[in-house]
Amino acid sequence: MATSPKRGLVLVADDDPTMRLLMLEMLAQVGLDTIEAEDGVKALACYQSVSPDLVLLDVDMPGMDGFAVCRAIRQLETQAAVPIIMVTGGDELESVTRAYEAGATDFVSKPINWPILGHRVLYVLRASDAISRLRIADAQHRAVLAAIPDTFFRMNKDGYYLDYEQGHEASNVFSTERCVGRHLSQVLPPDIANHMLEQVRTVLDTQHIHSLDYELPLPGPAPRVRQGEHPALQPVRHFEARLVATGPDEVLGLVRDISERKRSEEQIRRLAYCDSLTGIPNRQAFLETLEAELARSRKANKKFAVLFMDLDAFKRINDTLGHDVGDHLLQAVSERLRETTRPGDLVSRTEAGTNLARLGGDEFTILIPDLERVEDALNVAHRVKEAMRRPFLLDAHEIFVTASIGISLYPEDGEDCNSLLKYADTAMYHAKNCGKNNAKLYSSSLTMQIMSHVKLEVGLRKALQNDELYLLYQPQIDVASARIVGLEALVRWRHPERGVISPTEFIPLAEETGLIVPIGDWVLRTACRQATAWQTPGKPPVRVAVNLSAKQFKDENLMQSVLSALHETGLPAELLELELTEGTLMDDARATMATLEQLRGIGVYLSIDDFGTGYSSMNYLKRFDVRALKIDKSFISGLPLDSENAAITHAIIAMAHGLKLAVVAEGVETDAQLVLLEQYGCDMVQGYYLGHPSPPDTIDRMLASQDALAMT
Ligand code: C2E
Ligand code: MG
Ligand code: MG
Repeated sequence: MATSPKRGLVLVADDDPTMRLLMLEMLAQVGLDTIEAEDGVKALACYQSVSPDLVLLDVDMPGMDGFAVCRAIRQLETQAAVPIIMVTGGDELESVTRAYEAGATDFVSKPINWPILGHRVLYVLRASDAISRLRIADAQHRAVLAAIPDTFFRMNKDGYYLDYEQGHEASNVFSTERCVGRHLSQVLPPDIANHMLEQVRTVLDTQHIHSLDYELPLPGPAPRVRQGEHPALQPVRHFEARLVATGPDEVLGLVRDISERKRSEEQIRRLAYCDSLTGIPNRQAFLETLEAELARSRKANKKFAVLFMDLDAFKRINDTLGHDVGDHLLQAVSERLRETTRPGDLVSRTEAGTNLARLGGDEFTILIPDLERVEDALNVAHRVKEAMRRPFLLDAHEIFVTASIGISLYPEDGEDCNSLLKYADTAMYHAKNCGKNNAKLYSSSLTMQIMSHVKLEVGLRKALQNDELYLLYQPQIDVASARIVGLEALVRWRHPERGVISPTEFIPLAEETGLIVPIGDWVLRTACRQATAWQTPGKPPVRVAVNLSAKQFKDENLMQSVLSALHETGLPAELLELELTEGTLMDDARATMATLEQLRGIGVYLSIDDFGTGYSSMNYLKRFDVRALKIDKSFISGLPLDSENAAITHAIIAMAHGLKLAVVAEGVETDAQLVLLEQYGCDMVQGYYLGHPSPPDTIDRMLASQDALAMT
């Protein structure tokens, strides 16, 4: 089949004389000239002196082996790359890989299929020749040569095979006999045949190289099945064909069977897109699914929802029961989610599993396509929460978990993947803040809320230096003497645009951002300075009460701050009352004890604020050695009609007295409440009925008038 118009000179390098002889013989049969070398060094010298058209190199040679020769040739080359075929000792992947790394164009493995060798060499030569005739850049030249074709064919512009040569890995189905002289459409399925013919014509028109990929359902030598692979993929083989124009109406086709490569790509894909712990799609997969869904929904004008789920308190489970249990829990959770989002259920109308993913940690996402009503998304969220409710039995532990879920909607909430995912996440945080085990929709109103939150924070940072904070004082009245014995300092923020803002709005923000520490410090100094001014010689002293938040209590500079406020203003320590909440005290008992001891050491008056809303444990009150407790106004507001709250209030007062604690009732608004509290033996009262939080000059007058009253 010596159809080549051009004969070539082939350099054959092999240390085995028999092999050399056979090679020379085979090459001569197809009309090629040869020159031989018996080792690597000689081969290299020969290459330099005669410039062969092709090199056939044995890999195993004493001294300089084939790989080294190949590399050396590639280094010597300046322009054209000579095709190099390596003869490897078997088809171990390693030597083949090394051959290509060294710069080989193709390889032939031992035992050599002698009848084919000559043709193979011819075709590699021809491909190389065609390419150099097209004067393609060197880099492309090499790229094409590196494309190790299995099969070569020549075809005319009408799609008839002029020639067909199988390569070493060719599938048995196509053979020279079956193809030569036939039309594409007699050999290939119609769509592939048409496509290829189109490409043949384009290649002839443009004289460029064209590649096309196609799949054929061939029985051929099936690629090895690896464990865990889908058998349905078996019968399909993938091919890659490159078409190169070799004349005005003739193309050279170089066909490669890339089935193996496709399969490993698939395998890699699976590994790259699958969460290894739970077996469900991972973040990358989810992002791509989301991207595809976005494009689809945009086109079809449809809606979809993104659910973002996060387990509540997963960290605690991990920390207390260990990472193994944590991992098992994540597996069990994803299994339940998989059941809940199984196709066929209303939930999911897309392909199984594609809409569920684990983003990492204890974060899962679910994509709900074709959403008709927002309620559908909420229903899914509800079902997910229900699914989590049954306890998980893991390693002999019965684990109860809840989940918080955030939902974002396309197109309402966002028009791109990042925003949708981010907003679902934001909504999830919102759900957590609303008491966990919750599902929340992201909505524009939520954005506005967050935006104003951010704005407020920026403003709060400046509030101190701009002098926008001020204190009001609310009197605490001693029930027995009807005198003001204390004044609670309550902070206000005069916002330049919004007017006065309540501490219930900005104190939590200040705590979140840590601004509470400088703000608290300012409150402490201001209140102490004011209290000093209110002390009148000869009159009973008045305390000033300052609220301390948990963050402040844990701040290492608290003692310093308290001490310097007292020192600077000269206020006696016993006239400073610090109000702590139950939560603050319960947080971390050991550190708390130490701080409390220090505070008591300097003699400040400690009280528990909002008593009854937290743990309400009388036990720790004894331990913490506080002086007073303030019954939360929620118990007082229903009095005297609310008999239950009346009973609680009565009991708290009795117990507090048992512990030698003074009791303050907060939020006293009516005379009836005052009467009842007096009856219960309450020591002090505070509330609108007795005085609103007021500016210092109002308090001045109140103090003055009670002293005037006392004088009469
Ligand atoms: P709190 O310490 O329990 O203060 C009592 C709250 O009840 C005050 O709200 C007060 O205005 C309100 N109040 C007083 N009497 C009545 C009444 O008869 N009826 C009703 N319905 N409410 C009454 P305010 O001033 O809005 O303060 C809210 C909370 O903000 C305070 O609760 C306190 O926890 C915190 N706070 C205020 N100032 C500061 C501060 O300087 N530092 C810290 N850390 N927290 C502060
Ligand atoms: Mg208070
Ligand atoms: Mg209170």
